[in-house]
Amino acid sequence: MELNRHQSFLIGNYAPPAIEIVRGAGTKIWDSAGKEYLDFTSGIAVTNLGHCHQHWVKCIQEQTAKLAHCSNLFSIPEQVSLAERLVSKINPGKILFCNSGAEANEALIKLSRLYGNRGDIKKTKILVASNGFHGRTMGALSATESSKYRGGFEPLLPGFVFCKFNDLAEFKKEIDDQTVAILVESIQGEGGLHVASDAFLQGLQNLCQKHQLLFLMDEVQAGIARTGEFLGYQRSGVYPDAIAMAKGLGGGFPIGAIWVCEKHSSLFIPGSHGTTFGGSPLACSAAHAVLDIIERENLIERAKNLGGILLDGLKQIAANFPSHIDEVRGRGLMLGLQLSFEPAELVSKLRENGLLTVGAAGQTLRMLPPLTVKEEEIMHALKVIGAALSKLDQ
Ligand SMILES: *Cc1c(COP(=O)(O)O)cnc(C)c1O
Repeated sequence: MELNRHQSFLIGNYAPPAIEIVRGAGTKIWDSAGKEYLDFTSGIAVTNLGHCHQHWVKCIQEQTAKLAHCSNLFSIPEQVSLAERLVSKINPGKILFCNSGAEANEALIKLSRLYGNRGDIKKTKILVASNGFHGRTMGALSATESSKYRGGFEPLLPGFVFCKFNDLAEFKKEIDDQTVAILVESIQGEGGLHVASDAFLQGLQNLCQKHQLLFLMDEVQAGIARTGEFLGYQRSGVYPDAIAMAKGLGGGFPIGAIWVCEKHSSLFIPGSHGTTFGGSPLACSAAHAVLDIIERENLIERAKNLGGILLDGLKQIAANFPSHIDEVRGRGLMLGLQLSFEPAELVSKLRENGLLTVGAAGQTLRMLPPLTVKEEEIMHALKVIGAALSKLDQ
């Protein structure tokens, strides 16, 4: 790999990469030196079907040859049918398409503004979770507390109040007559695989109903079958008012979306929001292919079952290395090991041994294999992790 050239021409907003990736198939991915890896990052919960799934490739190829883009000046049949399909998996409501997770959260923030600015009411306070992550645009960044992301970008959008995740009392305490919405992830991804308890989400829903706040979920990382539900919150029996989705939705083709419940779906009116690329025929065909495979290959059930196998294996490893691993957490195929040290060295060791993983906040090693991962690939990954930890021991 020509790291010098990489650094000469690319702005240095990412850490210098260790390898250059050129090809993928299923869970496997190859670097430019020909070395093979098991990809337990899935491009950060994006390639949920594995790399280059045949049906997904075919749908994209066919759509590209038919019509790639025409703008939202016109009705796009693939967009209408995708919206219908998403609504059927969530609840009665409507969809707005965009291109990324940050954009989906921007749309939720703008929805909150429209909801808060009714008549002479002007409510702009949004409660969000400490340790959460909602994206890098100025609005989504304002909803993200960590100085790691905010540093150097202030002043940000005012009005966001940070409350401890899973601490209902803290959220309750911060509600006042300026408050308009609550926004949380069902599982904090970047924040370190912290799972929202059912009681927490139910409590937030009750607070939102009582104070007429919008109950907003960021399902950008936990959504699209990853946790053994279509969306992570669905297990908790709650009914959000609006939801942000992206990452896994296009299976590797950029697409984001928000779902808004029927009651609030007319807050956006013609001209009030938009995007050139959002919901293009090509992006929607990629997302249709993702939903096809989730249904055909039972990926929701698979994420639950194979996630159980990976979780059991990680728990066994944690029992063998109690001084290295403090906790195993997550749900489905969104799992993490909380380490007693920064994960960077272990991530490198695993990579050298052919397993790609990614760190998360709070000294967490994150694993996000594709939902099509094979059981023997999980077994192999567990072996690699155990071996790397025993080397760290020496
Ligand atoms: C990745 C992520 C985002 C931002 O998505 P981008 O597509 O990178 O803008 C927002 N929220 C959550 C929970 C995420 O994991």
